[in-house]
Amino acid sequence: VLILAIETSCDETSVAVVKDGCEVLSNIISSQIETHRAFGGVVPEVASRKHVEVMTLVIEQALAEAGVHPQQLTAVAVTQGPGLVGALLVGVVAAKSLALAWNKPLIGTHHIAGHIYANRLVAELKYPNMTLVVSGGHTELVSMEQEGVFRIIGRTRDDAVGEAYDKVARSLGFPYPGGPHVDRLAREAAEAVALPRVWLEPGSYDFSFSGLKSAVLNVVNQSKMKGLEPNVAGIARGFQESVVEVLVEKAIRAVRSTGSRQLLLCGGVAANGGLRAALISRCEAEKIELIIPPPVYCTDNAAMIGAAAYVKWQHSGGTPLDMVADPGFSLEEWSVPVASIE
Ligand code: ATP
Ligand code: MG
Ligand code: FE
Repeated sequence: VLILAIETSCDETSVAVVKDGCEVLSNIISSQIETHRAFGGVVPEVASRKHVEVMTLVIEQALAEAGVHPQQLTAVAVTQGPGLVGALLVGVVAAKSLALAWNKPLIGTHHIAGHIYANRLVAELKYPNMTLVVSGGHTELVSMEQEGVFRIIGRTRDDAVGEAYDKVARSLGFPYPGGPHVDRLAREAAEAVALPRVWLEPGSYDFSFSGLKSAVLNVVNQSKMKGLEPNVAGIARGFQESVVEVLVEKAIRAVRSTGSRQLLLCGGVAANGGLRAALISRCEAEKIELIIPPPVYCTDNAAMIGAAAYVKWQHSGGTPLDMVADPGFSLEEWSVPVASIE
């Protein structure tokens, strides 16, 4: 099964050719970060226009690098949502056009299912498993009892963790995206500024990061009012320690309570050094099998969309050509029907 996958949910234009949901023949990523940096974040209108500009070229490159002719393809997959509606539309229109022109089925694919199935590009998955999703727009614990069947057992009630990183970075004076800067500083810092841990109700798998973000802003502002330079590295380390402790603790508890056989990590914040180190050592101690994709499959890419689309294709086939981009697309509704597996 050869799938050409298109991803345009945010600020990466990406096209990949993936074989059998796990073998990446090509994965072209055209990033718009430089364009958006001047604005301190992604500007939706600009993102859509940039996707249009490069789409054709990225498709051609993906086919050329894979050495695949369109007629060899089984299907065309595309991120249907969630994401920026204008950005999604560019990918969806491109995918529909190709599906029509090449006479291939279309597979509307869920972006977060893609992030999760990025793990399939590097390892065989065992079920049931648990995924910690940590991206720019999502922070979730997702349980999969069977292939392609998703159940969200915990989610953020306010900011996503990547978003919190970016806001904290901005308050410390770093450009967008600030996550990597905070990560580097946190590891260089001699000591941590004390910051709260937000656990929510006992037993809850939900997250909250806005209170922590406000605590950081308070520390920064108090220093400034006293005419002092804020202890930037100490704050970064305190923030990272608080985030990592809560994420790791809840992820491990979720694995235990569901009898999961693996813990998967995904999303751009999976690149975080502190989080990776803490998860690796904790999972080793607890004898939990941990999978972490390499950074190129953690941030937005089309190979992960090809991996998720393959699962959908195997269990429920293609999507009608009149499907529409859905900025609020639900992961649980996108799940493959349980009956198709039993
Ligand atoms: P979503 O998939 O939820 O729509 P997204 O795809 O835009 O969001 P990603 O590309 O997965 O998000 O991740 C981007 C986020 O990852 C940014 O917020 C960025 O700051 C953060 N990030 C990247 N590297 C690191 C790091 N080393 N430490 C912390 N955060 C990081
Ligand atoms: Mg991005
Ligand atoms: Fe993403």
